[in-house]
Amino acid sequence: MQTRLAEEFRDTPAGREAGDILRACVHCGFCTATCPTYQLTGDERDGPRGRIYLIKQMLEGTTPTATTRHHLDRCLGCRSCETTCPSGVRYGRLADIGRAVVEQRVPRTGIDRLSRALLAAVLPRPALFAALLGAGRALRPLLPRALAAKVPPARPAGPCPAPRHARRMLVLEGCVQPAIAPGINAAATRVLDRLGVSLVIAPAAGCCGAVTHHLSREEAALAAMRRNVDAWWAQIEAGVEAIVVTASGCGAMVKEYGHLLAADPAYAARAARVSELARDLSEVVASELDRAAPTLPRLAGIDTPVAFHAPCTLQHALRLRGGVEGLLARLGFTLTEVRDAHLCCGSAGTYSLLQPRMSSRLLDDKLAALAAGAPERILTANIGCLGHLQSGTALTVEHWIEAVDRHWPAD
Ligand code: SF4
Ligand code: SF4
Repeated sequence: MQTRLAEEFRDTPAGREAGDILRACVHCGFCTATCPTYQLTGDERDGPRGRIYLIKQMLEGTTPTATTRHHLDRCLGCRSCETTCPSGVRYGRLADIGRAVVEQRVPRTGIDRLSRALLAAVLPRPALFAALLGAGRALRPLLPRALAAKVPPARPAGPCPAPRHARRMLVLEGCVQPAIAPGINAAATRVLDRLGVSLVIAPAAGCCGAVTHHLSREEAALAAMRRNVDAWWAQIEAGVEAIVVTASGCGAMVKEYGHLLAADPAYAARAARVSELARDLSEVVASELDRAAPTLPRLAGIDTPVAFHAPCTLQHALRLRGGVEGLLARLGFTLTEVRDAHLCCGSAGTYSLLQPRMSSRLLDDKLAALAAGAPERILTANIGCLGHLQSGTALTVEHWIEAVDRHWPAD
């Protein structure tokens, strides 16, 4: 697409990057067919091609308005459009750049501003979030039904083996996951321990930065990334084999550290190394199953079908489509067919809280698709999707590693 950036953007790193992305787009519109928000509203400006055009106009000098912001806000950031695009347009990165400009030029007011500030203040702070979640659980019977559905019940983590193997990998704890579902990392630790790998944590690490990044608070996001690089570095130098991430949304973020900190001379090389070492849990477990293949035990009691919800960050951002499904099938699970598996469930970071109407329509569609094969439970790979799906169904929703761990035969 022919693009002539306004002078104020032309010579900035973000402007140059956006210009390259815009020039790659041939405006064919293939991406609109797989965009969840375009399917809901039918408005071109709620699809990737229309949003690309809005961002292009803005970077060429047109003043953005509340309407520009409205349509960018309604984007899930699911990146389904990137998977579909035949020209390799990096829509997600362009949307980040566009949103940052809109955020500066069209200030938010009132409840919109307040709710974003609250989310940015609470979600990335594990202790504060855990305290508020504890209070929410205690008051759950008194809450309105819609709000009570958003407060997940406590899930015990179970025992977590102490590091005992020479082979070690770091594991990201993250921000909300330890409070909502501490059993996920505990299950990952148990499964990998049986496969000869010890997972270790860096206590100073925390939120991956995705929450603030998606709220366009770039300085806070970069600060979280730098803190994690510092927290992990000693163990990286000591030889950990990988940084395992059990939430695909966080994994997609950590994979971006190298790119987002490339202009920071104090962090660029280390951030690139961190991104290189980052692995989704499914990649690590699949390769450890390969190593252990001759001695693998048969999982017990997996005779009822399960449905797998593939998070957008797993299939569109990390490009690991089919990986978890293949792994589960290899272990003996029966997976149901799920139609429109490429579509977002409506969780999308803070989207379910900031765009509740669009989000709940996507949730209803997704739950109907997941329930169609009459599964016994729903498995997924991202804490955000897990909590969102669980808020709308009586079926148990859990991380796939929890199911693998539970069915692993006792030693
Ligand atoms: S982003 Fe890709 S699929 Fe969408 S209009 Fe541009 S070139 Fe076509
Ligand atoms: S990221 Fe998702 S919601 Fe946003 S334009 Fe692309 S497909 Fe549509």
